[in-house]
Amino acid sequence: MKIGVLALQGDVREHLRALAICDAAAQPVRRPGELDDVDALVIPGGESTTISKLSVEFGLLEPIRKRIGDGMPVYGSCAGMIMLAAEVLDGRPDQQSFGGIDMTVRRNAFGRQVDSFEADLTLAGVPGQPFHAVFIRAPWVERIGPGVEVLGRVPVAGSVPDGADGRIVAVRQGNLLATAFHPELAGDLRVHRRFVELVRDAQTRVAEG
Ligand code: GLN
Repeated sequence: MKIGVLALQGDVREHLRALAICDAAAQPVRRPGELDDVDALVIPGGESTTISKLSVEFGLLEPIRKRIGDGMPVYGSCAGMIMLAAEVLDGRPDQQSFGGIDMTVRRNAFGRQVDSFEADLTLAGVPGQPFHAVFIRAPWVERIGPGVEVLGRVPVAGSVPDGADGRIVAVRQGNLLATAFHPELAGDLRVHRRFVELVRDAQTRVAEG
């Protein structure tokens, strides 16, 4: 099982390192041929407008859309979450996403005062102590379709901790996983482990036909 990390821009090395610690064979993906070689993909945090632009230039936009359509497991953190959204608000007019998750995300949603912040979140499917999440000019999810499972929320002013009125910052739809925060920067690898498990499950299902 090989997991690729989309290596056009962003914190590629941190994801490669996190996956290696989770005992997953991880390699950078920059070309369509390298995409063909992997079973799953991680889209790093960085700048979604740049990742969008470079994925068009490197001929990866359509091939990644096709692989997602064929069921390839993908995990996107922050800018990677934006790339997995069916709809992006406050993007550049020409910004493209791969799509795959039936959701609307808003870029840089938390606003200037809280450009970057950290929060302890309860994440569905990640047992144990709360997850210490690092947010950097993060998006949030404003709309989800019926097939999307909410895995975590961040409380906003006036909301109850872990209450249903917090902003959605972690979701899953089938083989696609996305977080508005950066577990690759926090030293807690439970989200990466969860993704590796999801990839293994997807492969077992394919093998069993
Ligand atoms: N604000 C960035 C974007 O729009 C995402 C920031 C991040 O990945 N840390 O892509």
